[in-house]
Amino acid sequence: MNGRLRNQWLLQQKELYGNFLYLEKKENISVDRKTNLDDFKNQINNCQNCKLSLNRKNIVFGIGNPDADLVFIGMAPNENEELIGEPIVGAVGELFDNILKAINLDRKNIYILNILKCKPPNNINIQQDEIDQCIPHLDTQLNLINPKLIIVLGEIAGQKLLHIDLPLNEMRKNTYQYNGIELMVTYHPDALIKNSNLKRPAWEDFKNMRNKYLKEDKF
Ligand code: SF4
Repeated sequence: MNGRLRNQWLLQQKELYGNFLYLEKKENISVDRKTNLDDFKNQINNCQNCKLSLNRKNIVFGIGNPDADLVFIGMAPNENEELIGEPIVGAVGELFDNILKAINLDRKNIYILNILKCKPPNNINIQQDEIDQCIPHLDTQLNLINPKLIIVLGEIAGQKLLHIDLPLNEMRKNTYQYNGIELMVTYHPDALIKNSNLKRPAWEDFKNMRNKYLKEDKF
């Protein structure tokens, strides 16, 4: 069924049965998104587009709800994330879960990604060519998920994604656009564990995000 016929069919079904069936159809869209993301994951699982593939143990594709309106993006996986194959795990993950809970969200509502899917050596020395090679993967993921808001976690991730040279303390005061999606930048939970003084400004950011977006029913 092409797009026009599908829309006509949905409108007919909505007229006949109300929102119930319409919402059931939305579930099908969700299944499509999940399938498309799974397919894409299989497609890049062996990616060798940059030298980070050479010492890779696991690709860290990202995880979450394929229908999420809110996507968090960090810079790159660390050792733990690479071992487990998921972003934001361990003690950092626990803190992140607590922050989400404090704004009435949990991992079932969101999707978590990194700009780089493979761990850089010592988690530093990220090279521009590695980012250039991996950004198309991120763009495809965002295209498939189609979120309403991106929260970037960490200064380097914000600078690399936005191509700007501002410190995080400046970036977090602004709202940006990435591929037509609204984007905000705040501290990575890993930084909050290393420096507890950052917890207060990070909490302000999450509260702002909650007040601005949850009250507008964007999710
Ligand atoms: S970092 Fe990205 S581009 Fe480089 S090998 Fe991994 S998936 Fe491919």
